[in-house]
Amino acid sequence: MNASPDGRLVVISGPSGVGKSSIVDVVVDRTDSCFSVSATTKPPRQGEVDGVDYHFMTREAFLDATDGGLMLEWAEYAGHLYGTLRSEVEPPLSRGVNVILNIEIEGAKQIRGTYPGAVLIFITPPSLQELARRLAGRGDTAPDDVERRFSIAAHEIAAAADVYDHIVENDVLDDAITRVLDILDGEGADAVTL
Ligand code: 5GP
Repeated sequence: MNASPDGRLVVISGPSGVGKSSIVDVVVDRTDSCFSVSATTKPPRQGEVDGVDYHFMTREAFLDATDGGLMLEWAEYAGHLYGTLRSEVEPPLSRGVNVILNIEIEGAKQIRGTYPGAVLIFITPPSLQELARRLAGRGDTAPDDVERRFSIAAHEIAAAADVYDHIVENDVLDDAITRVLDILDGEGADAVTL
């Protein structure tokens, strides 16, 4: 499945508030990759657009999709379901285009099982204190959700070393982006256009 000329699957994970989306946006752009738009049952955050940031679904539609085998992986996060639709991943990969997933750790483990050649990168904050500051300062997340996301973050950071191929600290955004691009370059320049 992963033999050349198929594209490369790249998973980028990290705790809520770490700056993942900013990194993913630039990396998608700079590597001519496809971003896999996830399905979710969460309500849209301010500014999130259906079909662009997420495919927003009812819980019923989401569970129908998992029952129908349409999801490559899925997980529950902070009370909502999130999953990767096969239709976001398989067509570009088979055209030789790299696909980038922004997903949490349980999904990353499932991807590792299905695509052993996937590159798994975890973005970590300089400290938990800094993460708490960024999460609280985001302004688009309710205080109880901030607390829930922060406690999930501590577990994710503790478990990351056993799951991911690379851990990248996001202290200065541009440095973290450069590091991720370097990793992808080193992982297979043939599959990644820089
Ligand atoms: P947010 O609600 O902040 O956009 O995302 C919450 C968490 O869900 C993040 O860690 C994000 O990476 C993760 N996530 C987004 N899409 C998916 C997905 O398709 N599958 C899984 N397993 N996690 C996802």
